[in-house]
Amino acid sequence: MEMTVGSAIDDIADLATEYRAMLSGLLDEVANHWKHFERSSTWAEAKPHLDALTHLAHRIAGSAASFGFESVSDAALRLERVLRPMADGSGDSVSASPDLEGLMIALLEAPQTVQDAPCLPNSSLAYARVSAAAERKPLFIVDPDSERASRIASQIAAFDYHSRLFSSVEDALSAVSDTLPCAIVTELEFPSGPMDGAKLASRLGGTIPVIVMTERTDFAARLAVARCGCAAYLPKPIEALDLVNWIDDLTGLKPGADLRIIVLDDDRLVAEHHGAILRAAGMQVEVLTEPTALLQTLERFAPDLVLMDMYMPGCTGIEMARIVRQNRRYLGLPIVFLSVESDLSRQFAALSPGADDFLTKPIRPDHLVQSIRTRAVRARDLRQVMETDSLTGLLSHAHIKNRLMSEQTRVQRTASPLAFALVDLDHFKQVNDRQGHLAGDQVIRSLARLLSSRLRRTDIVGRYGGEEFAIVLPDTGPTEAAAVLDDIRALFKRISHQGNEGEFHVTLSCGLAMFDPEHPGDGQVLTADKALYRAKALGRNRVETAVPGTTHIRHV
Ligand code: GH3
Ligand code: MG
Ligand code: MG
Repeated sequence: MEMTVGSAIDDIADLATEYRAMLSGLLDEVANHWKHFERSSTWAEAKPHLDALTHLAHRIAGSAASFGFESVSDAALRLERVLRPMADGSGDSVSASPDLEGLMIALLEAPQTVQDAPCLPNSSLAYARVSAAAERKPLFIVDPDSERASRIASQIAAFDYHSRLFSSVEDALSAVSDTLPCAIVTELEFPSGPMDGAKLASRLGGTIPVIVMTERTDFAARLAVARCGCAAYLPKPIEALDLVNWIDDLTGLKPGADLRIIVLDDDRLVAEHHGAILRAAGMQVEVLTEPTALLQTLERFAPDLVLMDMYMPGCTGIEMARIVRQNRRYLGLPIVFLSVESDLSRQFAALSPGADDFLTKPIRPDHLVQSIRTRAVRARDLRQVMETDSLTGLLSHAHIKNRLMSEQTRVQRTASPLAFALVDLDHFKQVNDRQGHLAGDQVIRSLARLLSSRLRRTDIVGRYGGEEFAIVLPDTGPTEAAAVLDDIRALFKRISHQGNEGEFHVTLSCGLAMFDPEHPGDGQVLTADKALYRAKALGRNRVETAVPGTTHIRHV
């Protein structure tokens, strides 16, 4: 999280100050061109000023309202509507339309005050503050048995949750006053009193989700837990993954808080402003002012949605969208155009089949956030259903392979390293036989969850086959890739699972292969598979890296 919500809010204020200064410069330019336009005696003389005025009016109309200068924006919009047909015409109407002067004066004299301070997306802002903090908040584990508590802590640490341990309810309660936990996991019974764990929830007044773990399954215990307002009841033995799933759900970000958005607008301040608004709502934003930078950024940043200005010098938004869609991978990427254009039929004609959409500038910040969130979440959900495996939520076989191939194409241009790993569970047949198929499924899910939380967002994880996973690690060299995978191997081994025979652990083996530009395509998969085979042969529970240039010919 390089960008915090707080700093995004400061940015919005700074940008507004910067915009105010720029606006008065733009209005000076308007006044200047207007003066020359009025004095022009021929069409040829008038035309450049008319064009400049049209452009300025367009620019102001599209930006002023974003910063709260509503009346300036309105005046510019009305002016543009009259100027545009004149500029597009042939000069017949150069005898200025009667109301042109009035409109010009209206713009130049529009009160340059911020009527409505830019209405920040209040609800989403408040929410984003909470969720951004939730990421750093510890989990409290309250258990009189400190050994058991630290076992739980180490289990869920593998899934990226940091815990603080307390042996009594009172200690936990007094700690809450200076550190807000994201959730509390507590034992039900304490020496201090029966069901004190559940009472913790009522004493906190429902402000923090409380998860109760207990051996008791009787009705009285369940009722007490429910009455105290606890968020969840987990009968023992407790599976780390179950607990993590509960904490994920209870502290989870509202859908869309982690959305990734590219904002492309040739007007830097407008682009930055929209970017800051979306960031303040918790989204990750990349701001671009150059259409030419878009393609590269798409690859690197993997956005959920692109917000694009409709009219940019050199290339319209529609053209840019066509270019993007020439790549199959981006066929489903939602592109939302922002434009001052109010001619809706022209806009609809320009829509390409796909997820394109229009928002009209100026747009209220809360509406911007809401529209972007809805569209991006919808697209993300859709993509997930189409591309992912239902047990794990990871990419399915065909899709992970597609992604590997497009990464290969990309690195052939950029010459950056590209690692590919195959991960396979050790002796998994035996796990199923002894612990039951359901427990086996749970193991597969916990590895999926571990891979998703431990890898970078740019890494691509898929379920390659039954108990086999594939990982594409862009821009990653062999040493780094092997280290990351070995960490995952070590973490996974520590996770305890519950099955027919009680608690058990499972290990994994991993084969790693770097992309060799001489052998694009399936070669990398085969090489990784051979490395995996070697890891198995060498005793399992290990990561093996294929030696470049040799493994795809040599049999290991
Ligand atoms: P090795 O260490 O050599 O990989 O041994 P292994 O037993 O893991 O390998 P093998 O390929 O012989 O067996 C894989 C087992 O994984 C067999 C299959 O029943 C099990 N498996 C595959 N998909 C699933 C699944 O979705 N759920 C469960 N529970 N088991 C699965
Ligand atoms: Mg296996
Ligand atoms: Mg296998």
